[in-house]
Amino acid sequence: MFTRRSWAEPFKIKVVEPIQMTTRGYREQCLEEAGYNTFLLRSRDVYIDLLTDSGTGAMSDNQWAGMMMGDEAYAGSRNFDHLVEAVRDIYGYRYVVPTHQGRGAEHILSQMMIEDGDLIPGNMYFTTTKLHQELAGGAFIDVITDQAFDPESEYPFKGNIDLDKLRAVVDENGADRIPYISFEANVNMAGGQPVSMQNFREVYRFCQSLGIKVMLDATRLVENAYFIKQREDGYADLPIAQIVREICSLSDGATVSGKKDCLVNIGGFLALNDPELYEKATHLVVIFEGLHTYGGMAGRDMEAMARGIRESVDYEHIRARVGQVEYLGKKLLDAGVPIVVPVGGHAVYLDARRFLPHLDQELFPAQALAAAIYADSGVRTMERGMVSAGRDPVTRKNIRPPLELVRMTLPRRVYTQAHMDVSAESVTAVYDERNMITGLKMVYEPQNLRFFQARFARI
Ligand SMILES: *Cc1c(COP(=O)(O)O)cnc(C)c1O
Repeated sequence: MFTRRSWAEPFKIKVVEPIQMTTRGYREQCLEEAGYNTFLLRSRDVYIDLLTDSGTGAMSDNQWAGMMMGDEAYAGSRNFDHLVEAVRDIYGYRYVVPTHQGRGAEHILSQMMIEDGDLIPGNMYFTTTKLHQELAGGAFIDVITDQAFDPESEYPFKGNIDLDKLRAVVDENGADRIPYISFEANVNMAGGQPVSMQNFREVYRFCQSLGIKVMLDATRLVENAYFIKQREDGYADLPIAQIVREICSLSDGATVSGKKDCLVNIGGFLALNDPELYEKATHLVVIFEGLHTYGGMAGRDMEAMARGIRESVDYEHIRARVGQVEYLGKKLLDAGVPIVVPVGGHAVYLDARRFLPHLDQELFPAQALAAAIYADSGVRTMERGMVSAGRDPVTRKNIRPPLELVRMTLPRRVYTQAHMDVSAESVTAVYDERNMITGLKMVYEPQNLRFFQARFARI
């Protein structure tokens, strides 16, 4: 007889932070005050916070112990050495420049490599990455596979670069206009979708033959490695750390937000192999972040990140992390709620187009849906649709992205299965009453990264 054997979270809880349920009337009032933007809600008014997995994870006792071992010297902290050792051991890059978070690394990389009029092909834009490329005088060109734009396609590697698209960009513009490829592991905006090892290899070979560098956004590389282990031939028996190393060996460097896979609340780094590029980066980091041995981080924070990097490649950890996302995704699929499939590595993405077919994209359906879920239960999610896509830098017109999504993002090691049940039940209840949801209009719009601070009103 077959008996199901479940797995459970590979930790027990040592410290708790109380959370509180509020009333619907109170939440409606909070929404109005926040301009229907979940980024403008106060944390204390949120019951279950699925806004983002950025810096919201729980550190281990080992990481907290490391916090007490901070060497807060201005220069040459021993925690910097530990961070460099961890990056060399796990990712395999030679040089490390710490930064205050991921966008600090993106800023330095963009400023040192991009010249006016350059093109940077990549696998779907990420908000801060693309903006830093533009601020440096470049333009981002999306060369992700078409499968990524179809929320119903079960293709297992929707993060892949389409080599034909990449070749066409090179043929049209010349390799000398392309300083590097911006290659994101486990593509966030596509729904947390992985790149295959074969694709990493093919892109790297193609770029090497043309003298174009490959720079990874390795923020979610461990989640990507887990999917390669699950889905790609020949990787089932390899340790996660070995898969991570192999991916990095197919690149020239990486920007990393430590607030995701690396299991810390703040921090990031730029990793490089080329000594000349490293030297350039050390000159820029002192202007924008801090000395090249701390780059905006306290010694204790570098220690926590060094330890987090080592913990992140533990198989039991990453299986439970992605497994929790899959658990939530399956609950919603079973209830008939339209979500992006396959379920991604860090979040379940609700497909607002199919959820709210009666709302035109101009009425910000994903923004309206995130507000409706908060009103129902105090569960906080976020928009990933037309608000996040922003405006065309030249025409200043609204970009109408093919994907109009609401992201339910799971912090690492923070919530239990019961929190997932409550969240899924709330979304299901909202789905049952979806016809009641009306659109929004934008009443305040910041110039850059508008999704963070834009304000809306009910129509
Ligand atoms: C979060 C994130 C970033 C930006 O990092 P920050 O630490 O928020 O500045 C860049 N790329 C990806 C894929 C991310 O998820």
